[in-house]
Amino acid sequence: MEQVKPLSGPATTAVPRDPLQSANARLAAVSALLDNAQDSAPVVLPEAQYENHLVQVRLGMASSLFAALKAKHAPTASHSLRVAMGCSSWLMLQRLQGTQYDEIEVAALLHDIGKIGVPDRVLLKPGQLSTDEHVSMEQQRMVGADILRACCVSQNILDIVLYSGAWFDGRRDGQALQGDQIPLGARIVAIVDAFDAMTTDQVYRRAMSRERAMAELFEHAGSQFDPDLVKDFCTFISADQVKLNAAVARRWLQQLQGDSSNGLWQLAPTSLTKPTQASTLFQEKLLESMHDAVIFVDATLRISHWNRAAERLTGIATASVQQKHWTPALLGLRDERQKVISDQDCPIAAAIQNGEETFRRFSLQSRHDQQVQVDVHLVPVLGKGNTVHGAAMLLRDASQQVTLEQRLKSLHEKASRDPLTNVANRAEFDRTQEQFVNTHLESRVPCSLIICDLDHFKKINDGFGHQAGDAALIAFAALLKRFCRPGDLVARYGGEEFVLLCADCNNATATQRAEEIRQELEGTPQLCLGGKNITSSFGVTELQEGDTPETMLRRADRALYQAKEHGRNRVVQLGAGITSVPEPKRKASWFSWFFAVPVEQLLEKTLVTAVPLNIVVEKLKGFVADHHAEVVPVDDRHVALKIDSGGLPNLRRTGDREVPFVIDLEFEEVKDPGRGRGQGVSRTLINVAIRPQRGRDRRQRDVLERARQLLGSLKSYLVAQEQEMKAMVAPTPPTTPPVAGLLQRAQESGTL
Ligand code: GH3
Ligand code: MG
Ligand code: MG
Repeated sequence: MEQVKPLSGPATTAVPRDPLQSANARLAAVSALLDNAQDSAPVVLPEAQYENHLVQVRLGMASSLFAALKAKHAPTASHSLRVAMGCSSWLMLQRLQGTQYDEIEVAALLHDIGKIGVPDRVLLKPGQLSTDEHVSMEQQRMVGADILRACCVSQNILDIVLYSGAWFDGRRDGQALQGDQIPLGARIVAIVDAFDAMTTDQVYRRAMSRERAMAELFEHAGSQFDPDLVKDFCTFISADQVKLNAAVARRWLQQLQGDSSNGLWQLAPTSLTKPTQASTLFQEKLLESMHDAVIFVDATLRISHWNRAAERLTGIATASVQQKHWTPALLGLRDERQKVISDQDCPIAAAIQNGEETFRRFSLQSRHDQQVQVDVHLVPVLGKGNTVHGAAMLLRDASQQVTLEQRLKSLHEKASRDPLTNVANRAEFDRTQEQFVNTHLESRVPCSLIICDLDHFKKINDGFGHQAGDAALIAFAALLKRFCRPGDLVARYGGEEFVLLCADCNNATATQRAEEIRQELEGTPQLCLGGKNITSSFGVTELQEGDTPETMLRRADRALYQAKEHGRNRVVQLGAGITSVPEPKRKASWFSWFFAVPVEQLLEKTLVTAVPLNIVVEKLKGFVADHHAEVVPVDDRHVALKIDSGGLPNLRRTGDREVPFVIDLEFEEVKDPGRGRGQGVSRTLINVAIRPQRGRDRRQRDVLERARQLLGSLKSYLVAQEQEMKAMVAPTPPTTPPVAGLLQRAQESGTL
């Protein structure tokens, strides 16, 4: 038969046993011991009284703790007594004596004392425990050790209680010790505890047979339980338990002296303020000299540390909060929006629950009764396997930081706000419009620009004074802001001119919104002007293919000019919009176009528009003006437009050198030959060829893309479609005035 190792542990004071003693020999020794025990006088008492009596003699003055456990959950108290007697009889067979024996008996009696802190709904739950409930059950050993710490002078007892749930292989979450490092008493209690739990009815399962329970112990020997002790326990359990228990009872009732029971208890100062090791001393010193406030709470939200900086910041003394339950109300904590933080929203509880580290800006009630902004760093304290032991809260006075942030904010506001009307200024508009145009072009989501200028504002100033004029500007800016939607921007462009960038908004909607603003302004008597009403003119345009911020603004400005020209107090819109022209099909790769088109032209297309040539020329004027194009006449029906800058967005991408382009345009007006309603209607065909002014630019990768954008822009201005087949322009004699002449005249007279 296999030899059984003697019980061993780091602090054992067991009387040395013969290591070669066989199990049979030991059983024989047990029989002799029991026979001797039978000789002693039996203890005769009613069962309940008998148990109380046993506990009283074993725990002495601490038996009230056991009474509390019994009041909380009587089955746990009975189980604890059985475990203690089991451990004691097992150790009796090991001939263990002295303090260590006493300590193991007492620790076994109190190993479940932490269940006092487990809510009844968890303790009595018949079904499977949820993760939270499981955590609260797991923590009961820690709670138990904490309860005992206040009155127990034996660190060994505390350790046995703390580690009685530890796994021998050290793999249990948050476990620091393993194998023989775990106190012997804890390894013994773990086995007797498990065996008793398995062989008695539990609220969540029925009792197992002793054989089945033993098989379970063997199955988990080496992982959960000390394997040598499991073998030894197997020998012990086959002895007569009734006799053994009687022997233990006799030991307690007849041999225990008051000293051996009461000597273990006295009111102990809390160990939280009493550093016991150099490392603890170091940590305490570090905590106390830290500039930041540090507060530690355990998993049950009880405050265990409150350093000097925390005292300074909050004005609350450590002694008055230590061991108290943490609640945000203690500091008068408020969140980023100055909302009082309730217990339900407690960030420390959240850190403990989800195990996540967070940074927040809160404010707290300071020692001078003022709200102080604090940067709060919340760190869950995790053990091995991520078991949460509690959380640390580091608080740093952020008042200086806040002032700095506020100053930066006000600097930014100064740089981006118009001081009179408090809407964005022109610089801010320029920055925003560029982003606006780029993002909307990329996503092909429509956006629009409304530009408005108060009518005859000079007269207002002249009639009512500059101050009243200022007040009217403020009122108009406020009105524009009221009509803003999320993502829009109102800016004062200059003087009495304002712009409204309308995100995700097409021409039609922007025009309607401008009209609503116009009507609202027209119908609102201005108090600052003695009840007089003012009006404004509006130009509206939608972003279209090939636009730059500048071309978009110029088009809106032309629309505004037309509104002024046509009598003021009205809305004029110009342009087709990004979604009205189909997106140009992209080629598979950049070089495919390079070989596919004649070398001299980069892009050639024939466009068709459903209007006669003279209307096309009118529309072309807008394109020429907005792109700052130079008109070069070729012949009556043929014109070249020189555009010096690419005039296009995204110039900051690769190859961001501006590329000058030439756009060749040949026009042909075609009369529809069909009969019926369409008969006689003129359409215009336009052959377009776009090339860079310098031949070498053709090799740039981005050039084709820019040429396409120019073509897109031209199509938008002319409201033209691409014709599938390239139409040849017939050399017919001109019937309308030469295009180039018309454009040039417009350019010279400044009406472009
Ligand atoms: P129109 O209908 O053609 O726009 O006529 P207008 O008088 O509004 O246009 P004009 O450009 O001739 O005059 C603009 C006036 O706006 C000139 C100036 O007195 C006034 N103005 C510009 N900025 C301010 C300002 O900050 N405060 C005040 N009170 N008036 C301003
Ligand atoms: Mg004006
Ligand atoms: Mg003006």
